[in-house]
Amino acid sequence: TASRITGLETTVFAEMSALAARTGALNLGQGFPDEDGPDVVVEAARQALRAGHNQYAPGPGLPVLREAVAAHQGRHHGLELDPTSQVVVTTGATEGIAAALLALVNPGDEVIVLEPYYDSYVAMIQMAGGVRRPVTLRAPDFRLDAEALRAAVTPRTTMILLNTPHNPTGTVLSRAELQVVADVATTHDLTVVTDEVYEHLVLDPDAEHVPLATLPGMFERTLTLSSVGKSWSLTGWKVGWATGPTDLVAALTTAKQWLTYTSGGPLQPAVAVALTEAYDFPAALRTSLRERRDHLVGGLRDLGVPTHLPQGTYFALSDVSDLGWSDAAAFCDALPERAGVVAIPASAFHDDVEAGRHLVRWAFCKRREVLDEALDKLARAD
Ligand code: PMP
Ligand code: GLN
Repeated sequence: TASRITGLETTVFAEMSALAARTGALNLGQGFPDEDGPDVVVEAARQALRAGHNQYAPGPGLPVLREAVAAHQGRHHGLELDPTSQVVVTTGATEGIAAALLALVNPGDEVIVLEPYYDSYVAMIQMAGGVRRPVTLRAPDFRLDAEALRAAVTPRTTMILLNTPHNPTGTVLSRAELQVVADVATTHDLTVVTDEVYEHLVLDPDAEHVPLATLPGMFERTLTLSSVGKSWSLTGWKVGWATGPTDLVAALTTAKQWLTYTSGGPLQPAVAVALTEAYDFPAALRTSLRERRDHLVGGLRDLGVPTHLPQGTYFALSDVSDLGWSDAAAFCDALPERAGVVAIPASAFHDDVEAGRHLVRWAFCKRREVLDEALDKLARAD
């Protein structure tokens, strides 16, 4: 095999979902909801399939969807985009990440990334020949350490790969924290790729999602990634988008062209419906996720498991060090047998092993009954 995949193992999400299937345990591991997104959107996909929209869509995406994405960025974030040159449709944000890194990172370039990181960042930085430079968001608050960010820059740094709202800590970077990122990027002439797939899932009323591209001077150096998966509860559709200045979008599109050429034809008109007609769906999801967050976090705390209240996303982190476990991986390996529940060891998302050793991630995007059952099972575990 090629060195670009050396050391890349099966993703922990696939591993833990397989473990849940094998043991029949409740899956609070992989982040997907157990209720589907809006009927009107699913119906639009059905109609597109029946109407014969089953051949290749244009490489950068159907115009109707690119226009809907541009309108979405305008409505929610005040960004004015040209749908033909500043928007490209991707096969989920995951392809956006891949195409951005392949298009913009040269072998040996250093990419600054927040850790705990989403695992595809690690794989794609490596496949692009880059070197990751993690900046750790540390317990108990998981805020951005401005000094650590500044210290991570070297003469070889060319990119910051950002994620806000942040998986798995739930941190929603504040305007002040983002200004630090902007200052570092501007001072050192860095490109920023910002993964904003949880843009609509801010649960804390005091927090606000601020797209980095809206900060003064940042649009020109920022590629923004998002997708329909999380905000519209359609994770299996794998339709996403990248937006930004024409030159960066063109570079990403070139790489995307040779990865997949084009993405899910019949789903694209339906995603346009999500963004235009069902644009209030994420607000309702947010309200219900806030309740579920409070329920799970409260329940875990009542069981004596110190758990961080996330500002956004649908994940919560617990510290299992006081429960007598040597590390999160051992805890999560034993959990299906002990309690019939699957969770994800956040230690898998760290270079700084100590910082993540005792962190366990729970997904609370599950029905209330499932969360209740999981808490019951955990209460009965030895
Ligand atoms: N980025 C982050 C931070 C994620 O948690 C996920 C999982 N949805 C993705 C990207 C991938 O998104 P998609 O399913 O649209 O490829
Ligand atoms: N983004 C989801 C998570 O963090 C699922 C990721 C995946 O399966 N690759 O759990």
